Parts: sequence; C-alpha cells; structure tokens
Amino acid sequence: MNKRLVILGGGESGVGAAVLAKKQGYDVFLSDSGVIQPRAKELLEEHHVTFEEGMHSLPLILTAHEVVKSPGIPDSVPVVEDILHAGIPVISEIEFAGRYTGARKICITGSNGKTTTSSLIYYLLRNAGLNVGLAGNVGQSFAYQVATQDHDIYVLELSSFQLDGMYDFKADIAILLNITPDHLDRYDHDLREYVRAKFRITQNMHEDDCFIFCRDDEISVEHLNRIVLKAKMLPISQKASVPQGAFTDGERMLVKYGDAEFEMFLNELALQGKHNVYNSMAAALSAKIMNIGNPVIRESLMSFKSIPHRMEQVARVRGVLYINDSKATNVNSVWYALESMKTPVVWIAGGQDKGNDYTPLYDLVAEKVRVLICLGLDNEKLHGSFGDKVPCIIDTATMEDAVARAYENTTPGDTVLLSPACASFDLFRNYEDRGDRFREAVRHL
Ligand code: ADP
Repeated sequence: MNKRLVILGGGESGVGAAVLAKKQGYDVFLSDSGVIQPRAKELLEEHHVTFEEGMHSLPLILTAHEVVKSPGIPDSVPVVEDILHAGIPVISEIEFAGRYTGARKICITGSNGKTTTSSLIYYLLRNAGLNVGLAGNVGQSFAYQVATQDHDIYVLELSSFQLDGMYDFKADIAILLNITPDHLDRYDHDLREYVRAKFRITQNMHEDDCFIFCRDDEISVEHLNRIVLKAKMLPISQKASVPQGAFTDGERMLVKYGDAEFEMFLNELALQGKHNVYNSMAAALSAKIMNIGNPVIRESLMSFKSIPHRMEQVARVRGVLYINDSKATNVNSVWYALESMKTPVVWIAGGQDKGNDYTPLYDLVAEKVRVLICLGLDNEKLHGSFGDKVPCIIDTATMEDAVARAYENTTPGDTVLLSPACASFDLFRNYEDRGDRFREAVRHL
C-alpha cells in the first residue's frame, strides 16, 4: 500500500508538495478550508490529486501517515490539533521536498531582509552561470521545482513558520540576518520561542557547512553564546572587523573566507542603506563560499535592481523623491529606512498595529521627519508616540489622499517615504496592494 500524504492548504507550497508527492508514488489528499484558486485546481487535476475545499474532512485526513502543512496555518487550529493528537507527524513543504533533491541549499532567514538577500544571492549565482532555483517564500515552490526541473543549487527564503515544520532538512549554507520581535502572536508572545524557531535553520549542519550570522545583532549573539554549533561560524558586522566573515571599514566592505578575499566600496553597491550593507555582505560571503570569482560578485552587487515595495524609488516629482517601502511592516525595517534618509522626510505610516513599540524610532523621527501622514483606520498610537516629535501630523484614510497631502506639504529636496511599520489589512488587500496604490497615486501627481 502506498504511503498516504495529506496536505493542508492549497496555495503555492501545498500544490507543489502534492505534485512532488504524486511523482514519488504517494497516495495524496489535499484539503483547504478556504477557496482554492482556479490555476491551482487545474494543476491538481492535471496531476490526478484528490482534493477538497471549503472544509476539512477529518476521516479522510486522519488516515494520513504524514501531513504537510502550509506555513500560513497555525498549530492552534482545530484540524491541526486533531492531527497532532492522533500522533501523525506534521512537516513543512520544505522538509518534504528536501528529501528528494541532492542539490546544495543556501537558506536565508531573519526578521527582515530575507527576500532581498535571497533574490540578491540568486541573481549572483545565476550571473556566475550556475543552475540555481529560488524558492521558499518567493516564487514557485521548492517542491514544485524539485518535481519538475530539479536544480543543482537552491536559494531558499525561510520564514520561522516554515522552519517550525523542519526536522531532518539540512542547509549547506545557512544565513540568519537578524532577529527582532515579530509574529509573536504565533509564539505565545514568547520571544525565546521565536528565537528558537529561527535557529532551526542550523539544525543538522556538519563541520563543513557554513553559518552566516550578524555579529551586531544582540539577540542572535546572545543565543549563540548558549548553544554549540558544528558548522563554520562566519559573522558579518558593521561594527567590528572579523578574521573570517565580512565587515566594513567605513568606506569598504571586506569579505574573507579561508584564503579567499573580496572587497568593494560601499558607495558602489546597487542597494543603498545600512540594512542593505548587511544583505550585500551576506550575499558576497555566500558567493565566496561557493567559490564565485570576484568580478562576478562585484558586477552583481553593482547591477542588482531593488525589488518592488522595498525602498523602491518610484519617481521624482518637482524635486521630491517618492519611495515605496510598503513591505516595512515592523518598526525595525522602518528604523533602517529612516536611518538611510539624507533629506527631510514626509513620512507616510500606519495601518494595522501589531503591538508596536515605537521608542526605537524617536530620535530618528525627531531628527528627520517634518511631516507625518497617518494612513490607517486607527491612528491614535502614532499621534501618542510622535505628537511631541513631529511639527505636523495629518490623518488620512485613503492612499490617494495620503499622497496628495504629502505632495502639498513638501518642498524641493524632500523625500516622501511610505514605510508604514504596520500591516496593511485595515485598508488594503496586502502590502503589495498598498505599494501598488502608492505608485499609482504618485504617477498621477
Ligand atoms: P523579509 O523578506 O524578511 O520580509 P524584505 O527583504 O522583504 O524582508 O524587506 C522587508 C523590509 O525590511 C523592507 O522595508 C526593507 O527595506 C527592510 N530590510 C531589508 N533588509 C533589512 C535588514 N537586513 N535589516 C532590517 N531591515 C531590512
């Protein structure tokens, strides 16, 4: 009898896992309590996968030998509780797909910078002529790529939710960019649980694998002091030089791995801002570990185009630069956005608050923000936090209005920065929708 695999969630990762499982000879059943997109249904039908939507039929689910769960579904929903109670192992799509490929895996996690760094490393390895796939939280699922066009190398962006369902999976290069409080609602409001989830990226690593971490990140370093890792430890830092790893000397970044070295002026980097220096250092260091030549690394770091909604320069209108940083959904990413501003700022912020503590922004806001435009259903917390730090605060409830008010309140040389620090769901479908509407409104000015 074939092993029975049940998949919860019919999104990108669930459908990919179903296609791969079928190919591997499993008896597959996919269940989604919501609506499955037409394109996903087509794929499931094409691969003869049995599925249901709008419900979870327990009798069909509890016969599973193993369950692959979408990272979007928390353990606390009743169906998952029932599965766990029945003693059925629950894994992530990444864990499942990892069993069926011999490819090298470069894995990236962190509270911020995952997509940027993953995309940058992917770009770099492609430029080096390698057969590489990009997966995880971005693009086509890992499982689908393994099933249909297996690559030699994968760059995998991993959220803590994906890492939660990973047990035997092993990264060849693991990158932990930073840890700042986020998503704590899914970790019993316990930062330690979230930190432990992030560190799962290092599990099963051997002596010849590499672990890249940020030496300037207190939470990561504090946890590292308490555990023992077999992998080679390679720090990145903008505060201190390191014998192996990557660091800056004010003007340049320097990378050292074994006898190999790479250096580059910071002002040559395509992605500007202190946060992107970390991302670029992590990418260059991974490339050196992969034995990529210095000219390809330099060219790639110089020519990479920033990805939409992350400090994306939209347009310059009457001498004012408009930047779309809609993906900045927490305080830490806004800190880096404001830190990189060299002009007076008209700051558009707000949305659905995730329990934000704005204290870390106080000094930067007082120094750089001339006007704060609140864009959310409830702006009280922004007023309370910044009322005595910004001379002018304006309330708006649509993107068009926010951009129009920003326009009225700028003088040439200013920057208008959409960097909300909040989730978007009160007024928009998601952060992409929020960023798209910003771009549109700016183009209509
Ligand atoms: P993630 O995939 O982890 O959400 P992104 O690359 O999509 O990260 O970037 C999310 C937000 O964080 C953007 O506003 C971006 O400008 C900011 N950011 C990018 N890299 C970093 C970093 N290393 N540290 C802090 N913030 C960052």
